[in-house]
Amino acid sequence: MPDPRPPESTAMSPSSSPPQRRIPAVGRLLGSPAFQDLSRIHGPALVTTLLRRRLDALRQALAAEPQKALPDSATLAAAVAAEARRFTDPLARQAINATGILLHTGLGRAPLGDSARQAVAAAAGYCLLQADADSGRRSQREERVEVLLAQLTGAPAATVVNNNAAATMLVLHALAAGREVIISRGQLVEIGGAFRMPDVMACSGCRMREIGTTNRTHLRDYQAAIGPETGAIIHVHTSNYRLRGFTSMPDVAALAPLAKAHGLPLIDDLGSGALLPLRDFGLEDEPLVQTSIAAGADAVCFSADKLICGPQAGIICGTPEIIARIRSNPFARMFRVCKLTLAALEATLLHFVNGDAVSALPFYRMLTRPLEDVERAAQALAASLAHLPGLDRVIADDHSQIGSGSLPDVGIPTRVLRLRGCEAKAVARRARAGAPALFTRVHDGALVVDLRTVDPQEEGLMASLLIAALDGAGHA
Ligand SMILES: *Cc1c(COP(=O)(O)O)cnc(C)c1O
Repeated sequence: MPDPRPPESTAMSPSSSPPQRRIPAVGRLLGSPAFQDLSRIHGPALVTTLLRRRLDALRQALAAEPQKALPDSATLAAAVAAEARRFTDPLARQAINATGILLHTGLGRAPLGDSARQAVAAAAGYCLLQADADSGRRSQREERVEVLLAQLTGAPAATVVNNNAAATMLVLHALAAGREVIISRGQLVEIGGAFRMPDVMACSGCRMREIGTTNRTHLRDYQAAIGPETGAIIHVHTSNYRLRGFTSMPDVAALAPLAKAHGLPLIDDLGSGALLPLRDFGLEDEPLVQTSIAAGADAVCFSADKLICGPQAGIICGTPEIIARIRSNPFARMFRVCKLTLAALEATLLHFVNGDAVSALPFYRMLTRPLEDVERAAQALAASLAHLPGLDRVIADDHSQIGSGSLPDVGIPTRVLRLRGCEAKAVARRARAGAPALFTRVHDGALVVDLRTVDPQEEGLMASLLIAALDGAGHA
């Protein structure tokens, strides 16, 4: 039974020993009017859980710093309210991306196209995941995605796993566990997080055989390293860095005849896995999946949520024998994706098959958005902030970024709104606290808003979120 008496005071006054005693009891706080209101809105179970977590964090903070000032109950309630909302209000889970980083990993990489969103909703109930409607029997769950990938890449077989990190690990384990895998020293990449090629090799049970030097590796280095212990050759795209100057690396086309002559599988970790030549968009090309397959790679792996703009997944394309070996590996079952991912991926790939990816997928729409259009949006936003006193609004040249480690040194010319005369960091923090959360950039003391990555339909909403953040920060 909850205590029926009204709480005397929920303010936490600093007092004597031990410091943890200064934290009020959960039950007492939950009885306060602010928390009672919250419980009515979000449910008592969620509110209690979130409050407990917060008090635990405070307890730990006090253990480290006993004299630390504690928030009062109103501040605690406000923090729990904001957090609870992210769970219960779908809008509060959403974000508006005004950073200009197109594939923003923190904001979910590529936004899905409309067809993928509809496919996810349709697949949410019972669906034809792994059942053949004609015979009523169990079928291969990747049949449709394989049809699309074969059409797009020329590879006769394909499988889909949780992400490209899993794809790389699985391919290595299935094709070369217990044996040596030859890799150039110029391709020992770290992608971020814990994806480092030497560690992935170790995890997959392969022995890494490094060859060449950081800047130059020759075909003869590969040749010399091949021996009875060799299980595979891997080529890794240096997604997030570039080697320039006195460099040379054999490409997949050069490696394929060597691998074939020795009966070794040639693996190509492409990273982004472009299906369209980026040169068409005025960018430096990323290697195309279809080029790698045509050049003779036996297993090509790449992300589904970088330049393919689908859900988080890793795709492996290859020959039927190689894909069969990969599918029967125990890790394949552990890394497999759910029906929602397959639904979104199929819908996304279909746009590349139909040739309307650039107009249907938000990433390509944003990438090809004319500069004048981005500028018009920035001007409109600037005009909607005109009533705020003391705010310096300037439209300026800047660069949007592809993000997610793709094309590390390529910027896309853009026009941003730069705001000065406000506490940029505080405004940015308030904007992120909104629902949806609005993400901007802070550069050189200014708040920078790049509208290239903002859906034109969200411009009005974003203006009101920004005005609220500026108001709250006392910009005058
Ligand atoms: C991005 C990348 C990965 C990791 O892919 P995820 O889908 O993020 O797991 C692996 N290898 C390369 C070369 C990459 O660029």
